[in-house]
Amino acid sequence: MKKIAVLTSGGDAPGMNAAVRAVVRKAIYEGLEVAGVFNGYQGLIEGKIELLQLGSVGDIIQRGGTILRSARSAEFRTLEGREKALKQLKLNGIEALVVIGGDGSFRGALELTALGLPCVGVPATIDNDINGTELTIGFDTALNTVIDAIDKIRDTATSHERTFIVEVMGRDAGDLALWAGLAGGAETILVPEEKYELPNIIERLKSGTGRGKKHSIIIVAEGVMSAAELAEILKREAGIETRISVLGHIQRGGSPSARDRVIASQYGAKAVEVLIEGRGSIAIGMRNHVVVEYELADVFEQSDGLDMDMYKLSKELSI
Ligand code: ADP
Repeated sequence: MKKIAVLTSGGDAPGMNAAVRAVVRKAIYEGLEVAGVFNGYQGLIEGKIELLQLGSVGDIIQRGGTILRSARSAEFRTLEGREKALKQLKLNGIEALVVIGGDGSFRGALELTALGLPCVGVPATIDNDINGTELTIGFDTALNTVIDAIDKIRDTATSHERTFIVEVMGRDAGDLALWAGLAGGAETILVPEEKYELPNIIERLKSGTGRGKKHSIIIVAEGVMSAAELAEILKREAGIETRISVLGHIQRGGSPSARDRVIASQYGAKAVEVLIEGRGSIAIGMRNHVVVEYELADVFEQSDGLDMDMYKLSKELSI
């Protein structure tokens, strides 16, 4: 193999740049040429491909977002679109592709491997919702952003003796809500994987007030409902007044945490190794603190689900 390419796709995540840097530097270290594809799969279809050098990825390890930019591409979902993408790779002499992105981007990569192109997926999403890996790039940074926000909200919640509802991202996964709730000491955490019991939430809020609690923080994952909806329900059903805070896209930005930079470097380098060794339908991930590779197709086999021990613990500690 002489030349590979790298792209970032789907929702951006802090640490994508560190992963791009790792792919480029490792590839060059191993004597390969490496090209960057701009604007994800859409850019691939349009031939937005440039050869990258060591210096192209200098000074980016600490930056959020992605220098290769990201996009969502409807055209790539069609066979015609993917054939155009393959043609562009061929024109540029590219023999394999590293895809840095989330679940949807991995599906796209799997479709490309079905057309004969070796692809490796590097998991990067703040949602931490890729099956087969315990950790995705961007999750740790987003988590720290949420914790920082909860700590600040807690100050005002205490001063005014208020109940706050904080809405966090995560799409259909509750990881961000659960970890943030546990680390932020939230009284109640609502995740999409577990049915919530309204009487329970109300009871907890009331008994907290009863024992002189000055404030309450409820974390709701966007996959359950919006903070505004929950506020409305609590008011209607129990006359409980709340304030809401929707953290939104600040969760996707910012300088990546040390942890995200480290795993991005490890995952990116591992992706290049896998391609050099001749495997081409692989996902990279972390299990028990070890960087692992596994079949890309396994990502879509069955859901890892929520860490139920952690969920149980969060309940035990917030009585
Ligand atoms: P993420 O990678 O963050 O989950 P998306 O779900 O938007 O983000 O996926 C990113 C891109 O991957 C899509 O815009 C599309 O081009 C491509 N993609 C997603 N699903 C498929 C699929 N089933 N087949 C081909 N391409 C897909």
